[in-house]
Amino acid sequence: MIAGVAFAREYGLDLSVRSGGHNVAGFATNDDGIVLDLASMNDVRIDPDRRVARIGGGTMFGDLDRAAWDFGLATPDGIISTTGVSGLGLGGGFGHLSRRFGLVIDNLRAADVVTADGRLVHATAEENSDLYWAIRGGGGNFGVVTAMELDLHEVPTVYGGPIFYPASESERVMRFYREFMASAPRDLSAFFAFHIAPPAPFVPEHLHGHTACAIVVSYTGPLDGAEEALRPVREAAPVALDLAGPIPYPDLNSMFDDLLPHGLRHYWKADFVSELTDDAIAIHVEHGPNVPTVQSLMHLYPLDGAVHDVASNGTAFSHRDVKFVHIIAGIDADAGAMPAHRDWVRAYWSALHPHSLPGGYVNFLMDEGQDRVEATYRQNYGRLSRTKRTWDPANVFHMNQNILPAVDS
Ligand SMILES: Cc1cc2nc3c(=O)[nH]c(=O)nc-3n(C[C@H](O)[C@H](O)[C@H](O)COP(=O)(O)OP(=O)(O)OC[C@H]3O[C@@H](n4cnc5c(N)ncnc54)[C@H](O)[C@@H]3O)c2cc1C
Repeated sequence: MIAGVAFAREYGLDLSVRSGGHNVAGFATNDDGIVLDLASMNDVRIDPDRRVARIGGGTMFGDLDRAAWDFGLATPDGIISTTGVSGLGLGGGFGHLSRRFGLVIDNLRAADVVTADGRLVHATAEENSDLYWAIRGGGGNFGVVTAMELDLHEVPTVYGGPIFYPASESERVMRFYREFMASAPRDLSAFFAFHIAPPAPFVPEHLHGHTACAIVVSYTGPLDGAEEALRPVREAAPVALDLAGPIPYPDLNSMFDDLLPHGLRHYWKADFVSELTDDAIAIHVEHGPNVPTVQSLMHLYPLDGAVHDVASNGTAFSHRDVKFVHIIAGIDADAGAMPAHRDWVRAYWSALHPHSLPGGYVNFLMDEGQDRVEATYRQNYGRLSRTKRTWDPANVFHMNQNILPAVDS
């Protein structure tokens, strides 16, 4: 790893760092440069007494989830288990457990980092604390993370899965979702989705190919209280298909893996949202049901609860005061179909953007320009830029949503 960084620096080559290979901006690869692929650095050690996982920099969430599950433990992750812990985590990282236990970075105790000058350093709250602050949201800008220590939490069998409604009910369901999440306890997470029902064995044939909206729930409270906690969700509108129930956490987190394998074409646009207004709901109801393929989607994730426990300048991730983040994704195996899917994404996102915040989520950004990167980090950009100057003044790590090294002294 150290030699790879030194080689790229010495010869002025583009340097990509790859763990899960999921980033749709495509920074984990490049032409004519170097790719440091961490896939083989995927060892996972669980310390059940300290409730800490030590993982290699190329670990996938599925490997971490399954190892922790053996001890009845888990840590916040994304909703697809084949995503890399480092790539998702260094940008912030949210999923089913975030309302209760925060972002991935809020659970990052320590990291080993190979820096631009070829050193291996340890970053914690006490040691290299500026680097520790910056990597928690700053993505791959500050070095190659070769190992991480993450907090683990007791997570017994959860109650989770999607509950689908006909797309014709989407306005009613989305309005319900907004009110429901406003008072939901932290052990209840749920995201709203538009999807086309896939021809999967668990979907009744009469629904195949039909567009639906869904609330995907994850309840980590006592199992005997789950049905009651989720009763309002089931009563929000006539239910087309109910797949929620008791499930081991690693199974919930890999439930949608088959829908989104590697190798598909993606076009994404996303934004943070302070309030889900009536106007925004009307836009969702107009565009969401036109979701073009079974892989394509609109997801609206909650970003509150424990995520708000950390100050906006407590880590590089600045959007601690928003309620939701939405993502509109056109996804297909067929390259020829992508222009039409892109048009759907752009029209939907452009209508919603005036109701959203200017910056995006660094892990959902495509190539959207330097202004958008700065808007993403908001008040933290200046400090990040100065920290970049300290740790990577020549911008060796530029294959990412790039934070430019500060030029003033
Ligand atoms: C199907 C799918 C589902 C997703 N679901 C969620 C979700 O639920 N929640 C969420 O928050 N995000 C989600 N994302 C977005 C995800 O966070 C980003 O795509 C993320 O960049 C993926 O990380 P990766 O390691 O898999 O990707 P990679 O492409 O391997 O890495 C992405 C970038 O991260 C940096 N990086 C990766 N590893 C390292 C390392 N070890 N050291 C330093 N830098 C590194 C590099 O800059 C690299 O270009 C999802 C993405 C996909 C495709």
